[in-house]
Amino acid sequence: METEVNAAEIFPVMDYYEMVGPLLRRVWGDNFHFAYWLGPDDDASVEQATDRFTDLLIPKLEVGPGRRVLDVGCGLGRPAVQLARATGAEVLGITISPFQIEAAGQRAKDEQLTERVQFQLADGTDMPFGDGSFDAVLAFESIVHMDRRLALREMARVVVPGGNVVLTDLFDREAISDQEAAARATQPGALPRLSDYQAMLTDAGLEIVELSDLTEHVSKSFDMMNDITLENRDELAKIFNFTPEQAAAAESMVGQMTGELGCVMIVARRKD
Ligand code: SAH
Repeated sequence: METEVNAAEIFPVMDYYEMVGPLLRRVWGDNFHFAYWLGPDDDASVEQATDRFTDLLIPKLEVGPGRRVLDVGCGLGRPAVQLARATGAEVLGITISPFQIEAAGQRAKDEQLTERVQFQLADGTDMPFGDGSFDAVLAFESIVHMDRRLALREMARVVVPGGNVVLTDLFDREAISDQEAAARATQPGALPRLSDYQAMLTDAGLEIVELSDLTEHVSKSFDMMNDITLENRDELAKIFNFTPEQAAAAESMVGQMTGELGCVMIVARRKD
């Protein structure tokens, strides 16, 4: 199935992942999501702790063999393969990054899972799928890049009535005004408050089954990402073609948000 993607609208995000993807892959691995740590003494590797986060989400989808799952913002396809292996379900992963489609397709091939695990270029806020096409939807750390309202509405549309939508997102732990929160609601990259999800999900036609604040398990990843950014500052400056002033400005921003970042997991269900 070929897709229609409005590249002009999504270019900045696509550009970002096209540009930074290879570096991120080298320093963090094939999961483009945060790691889940059990506690301060957890000495798991990043690979183990990111796979563990996927394992935490898989049962929340409540799918088994023969069921169809849509993975919105599939990255390099590692979570999709893990999900297909664990449940026997079929998985279709979508992303707007051609580099990821290539890598994810190769992974499915290497794992001899091409019958059940496929990838396609498509925009999560405007999906080329009919209503109720999937038994469940996963959006693992991807709606942060999208207009959340559009993305949630689309997820609610393409999942069957009664089907689960499982997602993780970043939120702002700082106290911000209702006005500021409203302004951020449709802005990709801008973070909502934890208290905003209830209305966002209800508006999309979804009801919350579970909402868990995972910040204490994930926040070490935020610090690690800051370190990675600083350690690779020269390569990043080259990738983005920064002037020395831009590089200095980017560097001074690292770590600024970390203390206010939160990570939430949501299990929602499409109303019948
Ligand atoms: N879920 C993956 C990747 C998370 S990174 C993992 O856990 O490894 C965020 C992902 O969202 C990337 O794959 C990025 O390309 C994708 N993405 C960003 N904007 C998107 C959009 N509008 N539609 C579909 N995917 C998008």
